[in-house]
Amino acid sequence: MDPMIAQLLTHNGTGPDLNQLLLQLLQNRLEQQAPDNPDQPLERSIGRLRRKNRLLRRRLLAANRFVEGLARLMGACPRCFGQDDDCPLCHGGGAPGSRQPATELAAWMQPALERLGYRLVPGEQLTGAGRAPESSN
Ligand SMILES: [Zn+2]
Repeated sequence: MDPMIAQLLTHNGTGPDLNQLLLQLLQNRLEQQAPDNPDQPLERSIGRLRRKNRLLRRRLLAANRFVEGLARLMGACPRCFGQDDDCPLCHGGGAPGSRQPATELAAWMQPALERLGYRLVPGEQLTGAGRAPESSN
């Protein structure tokens, strides 16, 4: 029997803390099942994974900030852009333009639209569901 398990089974409330014993037992087991590279101590692997985790969290936060900024610019739901009927913020109604877009949207979009052969021209206020009023002639 593993001496750690024996110590756990006979633990009488004195000596090492029970949680410490369990933690040590788990760590021993992890080290026994250790990585493909036995020369690399578990602590180094854990440290490397923690650094990777921090990096991924920073990248995720940056991506979330970017998407929220893009949604604000386009007047869309920052969580789903209107693509999710179960969205707690918009219930699927948050497509671009469903909210007031930022005034800098036109300047930001202009180069991309020009590459498609379009040109933004300031016009009259659109009415209805995003359509210009019908001409009467
Ligand atoms: Zn939404």
